[in-house]
Amino acid sequence: MATYEYRCPQDGSFDTTLPIGAAGPAARCPRCGGRATRVFSVPRLSRTPAPLRRAIDRAERSAETPDVVTRVPGRQPVRRSPNPAHARLPRW
Ligand SMILES: [Zn+2]
Repeated sequence: MATYEYRCPQDGSFDTTLPIGAAGPAARCPRCGGRATRVFSVPRLSRTPAPLRRAIDRAERSAETPDVVTRVPGRQPVRRSPNPAHARLPRW
């Protein structure tokens, strides 16, 4: 699959994902249904580092279907020591 860019004269550009080689010179605009012409741009085959690619994908997914969380992200739950002497130690 590849992402192809089309431009509608009325609504501007939009992306369409199609099998490689299946993109025609024109497509139907998803907003107005009019004719949109294909825009040739740089392929999205850059060497994005894998961690960055995963972060970008996660951010894009969260816009559509955010993950359900049970606590504030980034904060660890408080762990209590089983040793009662630790409870008497000073807190900072
Ligand atoms: Zn349109």
